[in-house]
Amino acid sequence: MSDVRNVIIIGSGPAGYTAALYTARASLKPLVFEGAVTAGGALMNTTEVENFPGFQDGIMGPELMDNMRAQAERFGAELIPDDVVTVDLTGEIKTVTDTAGTVHRAKAVIVTTGSQHRKLGLPNEDALSGRGVSWCATCDGFFFKDQDIAVIGGGDTAMEEATFLSRFAKSVTIVHRRDALRASKAMQERAFADPKISFVWDSEVAEVQGDQKLSGLKLRNVKTGELSDLAVTGLFIAIGHDPRTELFKGQLELDDEGYLKVDAPSTRTNITGVFGAGDVVDHTYRQAITAAGTGCSAALDAERFLAALA
Ligand code: FAD
Repeated sequence: MSDVRNVIIIGSGPAGYTAALYTARASLKPLVFEGAVTAGGALMNTTEVENFPGFQDGIMGPELMDNMRAQAERFGAELIPDDVVTVDLTGEIKTVTDTAGTVHRAKAVIVTTGSQHRKLGLPNEDALSGRGVSWCATCDGFFFKDQDIAVIGGGDTAMEEATFLSRFAKSVTIVHRRDALRASKAMQERAFADPKISFVWDSEVAEVQGDQKLSGLKLRNVKTGELSDLAVTGLFIAIGHDPRTELFKGQLELDDEGYLKVDAPSTRTNITGVFGAGDVVDHTYRQAITAAGTGCSAALDAERFLAALA
């Protein structure tokens, strides 16, 4: 069994690397589990990031994450490209176990495991991510000026994305598999009143078309089976997110949708010495900068917690 560390960080997106940078600079020698497959987090799957402050001309997502990683490492963060498979957070000394079965111990744990956007599950979807297919209007809307865009979904997020996108787009078509929306009345009314927004009801995406760039969608009417074409150069998929909290069920308090609950504005969870930051907590903003911001808060909370133990 390993020595007892000050702090273990689970997750390596903007929240995890920022927490690593701050705790490393506070001489806490953090151990960071980056994840086996997706070290670097959600931005590893995107192209240009134009809204992370400090990069006047934008920066590619993977490059931004490599920079964050290197910056944390420069101050002594120890990075392990592996998954945590079990945790016991209940005692004064927390344990996390990696895929090889090695148990790591620490006085504090910061959870930054992010959330996974739900996918349509279609062949071309991932290949065209950042090439017309997006999961975030705030992030990518600006790239779609004067273009025809489809938004998939019928909830509040889909309506919010569609109304936001209509500022830039030539047209926005909301495709929903039912004949009524789940979104709140106010959000629905705003979308219905927008002259650029139209609806295709009872329909799902059957095919995401395009080679290097999205060129259109094949839609299927779920009642009649009829197929139709929708010529769009932008596709925003807004059918929900799943926070990665499976590992913590039964130990950390989660809300109805599975997000980690914290005692906001702090990052403290229901267990003393365990902190949460980034998209695993955040329903609302889901941005790299907000994840980095709360990662910083979690590091400072952990630092103060550890100082009080000494
Ligand atoms: P994530 O980045 O999701 O990182 C979570 C990390 O936890 C991952 O590395 C994962 O491997 C790790 N992990 C999970 N479980 C475990 C485990 N059991 N053990 C070890 N590690 C684990 N935001 C912007 O501000 N601007 C943009 O332009 C932008 N573009 C985007 C484009 C795309 C395609 C996507 C999907 C998102 C985009 N976002 C953008 C949103 C932004 O990426 C997220 O808000 C941000 O990455 C959240 O950071 P996070 O650190 O909370 O989580």
